[in-house]
Parts: sequence; C-alpha cells; structure tokens
Amino acid sequence: MLVDSNGRTVSYLRLSITDRCNLRCLYCRPAANWVGLSHEDVLTYEEMFKLVNAASQAGIEKVRLTGGEPFARKDFIPFVAKLHAVFPQLDLRITTNATLLQDQAQAVRQAGVTCLNISLDTLQRNKFAQITGVDAYALVRAGIDACLEAGLRVKINVVALKGVNDDELPGFVDFAQKYGLDVRFIEFMPIGYESRWNKDNYWAAQDIIAHLQEMVSLVEEARTSRNSGPARMYRIDGSLGRIGVISAVSHHFCHSCNRLRVTSDGKLRTCLFSDQEYDVRSILRDPEQGLEELLALFHRANLEKPMGYRLLQERGNKAVCDRVMTAIGG
Ligand code: SAM
Repeated sequence: MLVDSNGRTVSYLRLSITDRCNLRCLYCRPAANWVGLSHEDVLTYEEMFKLVNAASQAGIEKVRLTGGEPFARKDFIPFVAKLHAVFPQLDLRITTNATLLQDQAQAVRQAGVTCLNISLDTLQRNKFAQITGVDAYALVRAGIDACLEAGLRVKINVVALKGVNDDELPGFVDFAQKYGLDVRFIEFMPIGYESRWNKDNYWAAQDIIAHLQEMVSLVEEARTSRNSGPARMYRIDGSLGRIGVISAVSHHFCHSCNRLRVTSDGKLRTCLFSDQEYDVRSILRDPEQGLEELLALFHRANLEKPMGYRLLQERGNKAVCDRVMTAIGG
C-alpha cells in the first residue's frame, strides 16, 4: 500500500498516453506555439504496461488513461484491451474529447472499458470552435451518441469558464436529464506558467451550485467508494441525470487526494500543483532495473507527496506548474 506522510493512501493512477491532441483548448495549452515531446521521449506501450503492473502491485486499484488525446495515439484500443485482459481487477477508465469515437465506441466497450469521461465545454457549435480551435462539435456529439449506444457509461466534464460558458447551465441541465448522465463542472485551474489561465474566467463551484438551485431541485448524493473522485454530485429531481462540481481551487481536496500521475514521457508527479517529478522512464529503460526499483520509487515519491493547496496559496493569483495540462493529463 502506498501511504504518504500525511496518512493518505494512494489507489488511483492517471497515466498520460500522449501529450498530443487534435484539439487546442484555450485552458489546456499555452497561448504561444507549443512544442510537444519527441517520439523517443514518449513511453512505449510495453513500458506503460510494465508501469501499470508495478502500480497494481503497489496497491493501485483504478487507472485512468488520459492525454493529450489518448485515442489519437496509434493502437490505443489494443493497448487498453491488453491492460484489461491482464489486469481485470483494475478499474480502467479513459478521459477523452470523443472526437475519434464515432466508429470506435463498440471496440472500446469490447476492450473492457465501461465508463468514459468526455470533455465538452459548450453545447454550441461556434463556441466549441472558439474554445477548442477546431470545428468538431458535431464529431463530439456523434462520439457521445455512439458511446451511449454501445452501452458505455458517459460522464461529461465541463471546464467552468466565466464569460465563456456561464450562460449554458440550463442547456447542460437539459442535456443531463435527456441522456440520464453525469455533467460535472470543473473549476478552471491555474495550471501551466505558460497557459492562458486568467482569474477573470474563474467561476467558483459555489456560484455554479447557487445558480443551479435557482433552476432545478437538486438532491446531493453521497460518495459511493473511496475511489469515487472529488466531484460533489447532485441528482436532478425526477430524472436519472446528475450534475456536479469539482472545486479543485475553492475547496481543495488535498486531505483526501489518492492520486499519482505519470506523464507520457514517464515522469511521476504526486501532485497536480507541484513541479516535483520522479523519473520512471530511466528505470523502465534500464535493463539492470525492474519491478523492485519501480516500487521503491513509488514509495519514495509518495512519502514526499505535498499538500498542493499550499503551493497554490504561495502563488497567489498566478498559475502554478511548469507543464501545461495537455502535457500532464488533467
Ligand atoms: N483530451 C482528453 C480530453 O479532452 O478530455 C484528455 C486530456 S484533458 C487534459 C483532461 C481533462 O483536463 C479534461 O477534462 C479537461 O477539460 C481538463 N482540463 C484541462 N485544463 C484544465 C484547466 N486549466 N482547468 C480545469 N480542467 C482542465
């Protein structure tokens, strides 16, 4: 078990498959041109497989594959199928923009995945193009439809952006009700010194809930397991749909953080807000090192896991982190 010096047990790994993405979301990338990793720096699937094996032995129960856009990497679905076949006990999840899912949802289901988080910040085509830099709204909607038809559970992630999508609460409530799915508003996080994070776009979770409560009757739901994640979820009375908030900035959940992250170039990060990285890739690429060294690194890193909210407070109104979100994985 990975228990840190604050008594927190880590059971959840977010593994970034690639830093490349076919969208250019304004909150996720730097304003200036951004240069991604070179091919040889990115972990191979075989290396990622060894990493997941070590993580599973260290007590990780849930693995989320993220990016960049994970489906943009070649042979991603066969990799997922292999992970599921070899580690059936792992709760395997994926975070995606759904642009590439229209024809792949069935294959994703067959690979053993049951639930996807899909990012969608607006229900308006023109605004989608403004936020993401690509006119791909119809593709995302087709991808969501295909996932629901394939029997996948879908959770929608909306980055809450004041002045951008704060007029769309009624639309997202209808969307959650119509499809009986979860819509979660994530507070805009100040990640990446080079990012376009701007406090004027920050929209606090409590304001979102207050607005929602004026519109519909909400019933707060209890967390179902220790791997449930930090979202506060509310059932919309009379429907299967739920709406929620992830208050990563206003009400930090550091005390219950159960996560480790590994970037696609094999750097272990124990806290989203910290630049401290541990080099997993050099162990994976060293024929003299193996499982024992990986486990030792996990334990050492986890013991040094900080309380990230302190790092945020120190920075005041400035962004934290040398990497932008697309390079970390959210
Ligand atoms: N391409 C995939 C997608 O679009 O979901 C996975 C990668 S994306 C980096 C993972 C998650 O991070 C998405 O839900 C995205 O909305 C969220 N995200 C990115 N930058 C963010 C920020 N500055 N604040 C809050 N959430 C952010």
